[in-house]
Amino acid sequence: MTRDISVRARPALAPPAALLVVAMVLGSGCPRQEQERYEAPTDLAEPADEEPEREIPEHPPVGEAVFHHFDVGQADATLIRAPEGTILIDAGHWQRDDVVPYIRGAGVSEIDVVAISHPHADHLGQVPEVVEAFDVGEVWMSGYEHESATFERAVDAVLETEGTGYHEPKAGAVEEFGDLIVEVLNPERHPAHVHDNLALRVRYGEFAAVYTGDAEEEHEAGMIAWAKAAGAGEDAVAAADGAEGEAAGEAAEDASGDAPDGPLDALAAQLLQLGHHGSRTSSSSAFLRAVSPEVVVYSAAKDSQYDHPHAEVISRIEELGIDIYGTPTSGTIVVRTNGDGYEIEEQGDALAVADTGGAGTGSADGCIDINRASKEELQELAHTGPARAERIIEERPYESLDGLHRVHGFGESRVADIKAEGLACIE
Ligand SMILES: [Zn+2]
Repeated sequence: MTRDISVRARPALAPPAALLVVAMVLGSGCPRQEQERYEAPTDLAEPADEEPEREIPEHPPVGEAVFHHFDVGQADATLIRAPEGTILIDAGHWQRDDVVPYIRGAGVSEIDVVAISHPHADHLGQVPEVVEAFDVGEVWMSGYEHESATFERAVDAVLETEGTGYHEPKAGAVEEFGDLIVEVLNPERHPAHVHDNLALRVRYGEFAAVYTGDAEEEHEAGMIAWAKAAGAGEDAVAAADGAEGEAAGEAAEDASGDAPDGPLDALAAQLLQLGHHGSRTSSSSAFLRAVSPEVVVYSAAKDSQYDHPHAEVISRIEELGIDIYGTPTSGTIVVRTNGDGYEIEEQGDALAVADTGGAGTGSADGCIDINRASKEELQELAHTGPARAERIIEERPYESLDGLHRVHGFGESRVADIKAEGLACIE
């Protein structure tokens, strides 16, 4: 089955109850712009003026949506199930085989969309297994083409699977599965950086959750700019509201200048998955304010070789009074919503599958396996400090030592030195 990804002129506005009340109070005398804000999605081909009058708000969702943040070690895999749609965001680590059992455990046999944030091996690792095990409607990717065996294996598996479509949706695209609404927040254009990720906001009724993969601060800034542009038409409303106006004044005094002081309509969500497993490269204060989550979740290994999540990110979140749940302490984190409230369940180790990923077992026989060694072990190699060791891990897997060429910071001569040294190997 294939489905067109509809693109709206503007991203849908989460309809918080307070705004709906404002709309109703303004009544029929409100300016036209006001009415447009609350229209149900329209087809681009159809001028908004010809839309029939309709009652707002839409009916509340029937049933519930369940967000499973699977405990997949140093990797990401999130399954979202609603009565009329099932979405998988990222597909675990290439060295593990836990994603298919987890999805089966959730009682799923068909997946409408498998959305891969970016082509690193801890996000698309088990795509081949997933498209083989389940009836997958579409696979979405960021469009960044990565030179790695895992990426090629995943793309080949998708293209060879009959009935599974492939898309690279851009910011502003929206797809609806009954009451489950998937909005693309990033990238705006073909990504030039591997971490310029496919980022999504998934909504069910008034509940929303944001997933940015490993997007870094600069990509978060891009999403803020995009969301501001998308919401530019709503400035008049903000200005009319006394409290908002005051807050805007405070924002102007903010040292970071254009940082939002509060939630942006196109990004706001109750739940945010911390970018890049809680790394300090992501979750900027500005982005946290723009999303304004009540709760954050992150996915990382119990003994993360990158020390994810980083302490400064955690303290930033604690200062904002946001609740934190992580797979290292909570196991799989399940969030259920009826489209209004939500509840969080920590499933502990109950469903955990043996952790084989990135545990640092790579220095057996005295050689350092660049596909398995820990960050510390990799630093025994020539020219390899902590930052390059992290990049070596991110670019896994390698088929030969020459694969190190694609790691930023390793030119011809450095790779030659590592080979000559005789310490590095691939088992
Ligand atoms: Zn990652």
